[in-house]
Amino acid sequence: MSIRINALSCIGCKRCAEVCPGNLIKIVNNRAVIKREKDCWGCTSCLKECKTGAIEFFLGADIGGKGSILSVEEKGDLRTWIVKRPDGSSETITVNTKESNKY
Ligand code: SF4
Ligand code: SF4
Repeated sequence: MSIRINALSCIGCKRCAEVCPGNLIKIVNNRAVIKREKDCWGCTSCLKECKTGAIEFFLGADIGGKGSILSVEEKGDLRTWIVKRPDGSSETITVNTKESNKY
């Protein structure tokens, strides 16, 4: 499993690099790149920090994802997790970040 960074959507803000607990992301020519893909353990911190949607998480067969792609969108307090499957179908889960630690 690993992230994928879309260089066309990246604005080089460095937020992803700053939050990665494994120091796996670096900025090259004002674009984020992942240094060692195989070391990514999928904490999703970088996805949540990226405000341009440039980062997607590849859900490989090794974790039952069968090639699905996970991405995150935020609007105000609402964070929506989106899983796009290879067959074109998708699933979304929306969480109010203000209430996510309530229970
Ligand atoms: S998912 Fe976590 S470990 Fe992987 S690159 Fe992003 S912040 Fe780093
Ligand atoms: S957080 Fe997103 S826009 Fe900012 S450097 Fe990382 S990938 Fe690029």
